[in-house]
Amino acid sequence: MLPYGRQSISDEDVAAVTAVLGTDWLTTGPAVTRFEEDLAAVTGNAAVAVTSGTAALHVAYAAAGVGPGQDVVVAPLTFVATAATAALLGANVIFADVCDDTGNLDPDAAKAAVTASTSVIAGVDYAGHPIDASVLSDIAHDAGALLLEDAAHSVGGRWHGHRVGELADLTTLSFFPTKNLTTAEGGAVVSPSPSLIAGARGFRNHGLVRDRDAQRFPDEGPWHQEVHAFGLNYRLPDLLAALGSSQLTRLDAFVARRAEIHARYDAALADVPEVRTPSRRDGADPAWHLYPLRVLDGRRRELFEHLRASGVGVQVNYVPAYWHPVFEDLGYRRGMCPVAEEYYRQEISLPLFPDLTDADVDRVASVVRAYFGYGS
Ligand SMILES: *Cc1c(COP(=O)(O)O)cnc(C)c1O
Repeated sequence: MLPYGRQSISDEDVAAVTAVLGTDWLTTGPAVTRFEEDLAAVTGNAAVAVTSGTAALHVAYAAAGVGPGQDVVVAPLTFVATAATAALLGANVIFADVCDDTGNLDPDAAKAAVTASTSVIAGVDYAGHPIDASVLSDIAHDAGALLLEDAAHSVGGRWHGHRVGELADLTTLSFFPTKNLTTAEGGAVVSPSPSLIAGARGFRNHGLVRDRDAQRFPDEGPWHQEVHAFGLNYRLPDLLAALGSSQLTRLDAFVARRAEIHARYDAALADVPEVRTPSRRDGADPAWHLYPLRVLDGRRRELFEHLRASGVGVQVNYVPAYWHPVFEDLGYRRGMCPVAEEYYRQEISLPLFPDLTDADVDRVASVVRAYFGYGS
């Protein structure tokens, strides 16, 4: 079975990880600092490395002060973690619909969803296409809220020349193996705000305060560290940080190859009227993580099963987050975000990863074409 996503691991990646095993620092060491510096160089802002993209969301919402009594506006066409982490902090999640072309949070819907209690608007760079960040941050800031960009799909992308990481108050990344670069499990929070970065660092490490000037009981002794706000252990080990730094040296190549594959699918499927190929807005320089094909004739499930039976590992991204029973049990109902639901009903993600060959792409496209009765 051809996978729909797969990591690219080089000999240099292997050497970088094994080198750390022989040092004193398996975690909380210099490879983490270096990875954070490397991420800052790529994203344009300070980065805090954590253990997953989910941890990054949890840390980012915590740094934003999200808690009970607050509303967080979230795009529903996403992995459940974008919403679940805000709910876990006690916030009221409000889903706002997406745009039909990109699948990204619709600024008009976000604006309509904002309340006096909104503390964060969370958009998702669906498939790797950046959100309309300037418009969304104006809406957030006018409401006294922050813009969070879930960039699990899009590190390495740009919007009107600005890098993903420079677009929002808080940007979260994931380094799961299928994503644009990997640390096995891993993630990061990126922000231009020193206070949000300090909040993220605190929550990642139990909320421990080691700086004597900031301590309530600085004279307790030289061993003393104290907690002012609860946190968790979301520290990324040095082993994985070293893999991340090594992977980052190839991020541009990964993004370029993903774009080539994307364009090859576009060309191969452009004349099939039963499907719709992904849209790209003016000003967007996506780092394509997914190839979301839309099946317009209602046969999405049949095509999905046919592709799987033909050895093509496809996925569907995503069931609307509020369809998960945990949200249904809280009173969220189907029909709330009709554009996201229609997008979901049509969507199939075709295989997309840097080591996919042109011949693989052509074979996948010809299975799709043949299914609808067209030659290759
Ligand atoms: C992968 C992903 C996450 C979660 O990242 P993990 O590293 O798997 O925890 C969150 N949001 C989106 C949009 C994702 O694709």
